[in-house]
Amino acid sequence: MTSNARAPARIVIAGGGLAGLRTVEELRALGYAGDITLIGAENRPPYDRPPLSKQLMMGAVHDTSLRAELGSLGADFRLGERAEQLDDGMVRTDRGEYRFDRLVIATGARPVALPGPGRQWFLRTIDDALALRETLVPGARLVIIGAGWIGAELATAAASVQDGGLVLAGGGWLAADEIVTAVGVKPDVGWLQSSGVKLENGVAVDEQLRCSVPGAYAVGDCAAFWSGRFGRRMRTEHWDTALRAPAVLAANLNGAAQRYDPVPYFWSEQFGRMLQYVGDHRGADRLVWRDPGYGPHWAACWLAGERLVAVLTVGLPRDLQQGRRLIESAVPVDPGRVGDPTVPLRDSAR
Ligand SMILES: Cc1cc2nc3c(=O)[nH]c(=O)nc-3n(C[C@H](O)[C@H](O)[C@H](O)COP(=O)(O)OP(=O)(O)OC[C@H]3O[C@@H](n4cnc5c(N)ncnc54)[C@H](O)[C@@H]3O)c2cc1C
Repeated sequence: MTSNARAPARIVIAGGGLAGLRTVEELRALGYAGDITLIGAENRPPYDRPPLSKQLMMGAVHDTSLRAELGSLGADFRLGERAEQLDDGMVRTDRGEYRFDRLVIATGARPVALPGPGRQWFLRTIDDALALRETLVPGARLVIIGAGWIGAELATAAASVQDGGLVLAGGGWLAADEIVTAVGVKPDVGWLQSSGVKLENGVAVDEQLRCSVPGAYAVGDCAAFWSGRFGRRMRTEHWDTALRAPAVLAANLNGAAQRYDPVPYFWSEQFGRMLQYVGDHRGADRLVWRDPGYGPHWAACWLAGERLVAVLTVGLPRDLQQGRRLIESAVPVDPGRVGDPTVPLRDSAR
């Protein structure tokens, strides 16, 4: 697309994470030549979060910037500036005011804290990660609260647990006094409380990522989108969503009417294993295991009636890919063949 009569003149994006940056990139890739202002609370160029609990925590990388430079995007990046209020056609920040024709809300999510006066570490930002990494030294005792994905990845970087402490992956001994709270995140939408934007576990958006206020859209971890595929509102906290949804959003900002209705996907890396999950198993009525019988590899397949709705794999990327296509196509499958590891998963389609 090189021009579009309905393309808005001024687009303001609140949030400088992956979803915010990808929206800028996709708009420019579509040929949108109007003004773009991105307001990002962190005083850093956009960076990637998945390596924070993996390669960066292990000390293998120190910088996870998403782009070497931002200048070629021709956008006004207002970094270190926080959106505080949304009024009619205007975002007010802690430094100024920005009029818009279209607004993109991409303010992501923030960690949930536990009550109490003691010091808690979190793992959401690169500053969190760099500071936390400094505490992973022999002699410190680390307690991780929360056995979710990030808590488990951090445990991978830290050690294996022994009586009275932890043994580091590199062989050091870690005895424990620091507390890391990793009990989940909530959408970072407090600044929209009195804006009239409908909030429903995040910013409620329709299949075209439009929110209840005309001209405003939401994307990424903060957006609860309507999924026609699964028949419910969904808010994922997945990198894949922040990566891909902006392409649909940018097209819609340019006047298209595309639907965003993905089969959600995320991965995790723990103790040398690759875990991958695709789909949504909340509506499932049956769980079928696939165990090829060699090493720590297996797949869990959830079915709703005769349809595959979700697959979790450990070390079986082919099952993940084939499962993803079966979920996307919604074809009926034979549960007996799903559970037979000698049959390629794709051949379980009836
Ligand atoms: C440690 C870690 C590991 C992860 N590992 C995986 C993984 O292995 N696999 C996977 O699928 N996903 C993973 N994720 C999740 C993935 O990184 C997120 O889904 C993705 O970053 C979401 O991008 P986003 O742009 O929507 O939100 P965010 O990345 O949260 O970015 C939002 C940005 O908006 C800013 N902001 C917030 N409020 C305001 C405001 N009022 N004004 C201006 N700016 C504001 C924030 O400071 C932030 O910079 C991981 C996340 C973390 C933290």
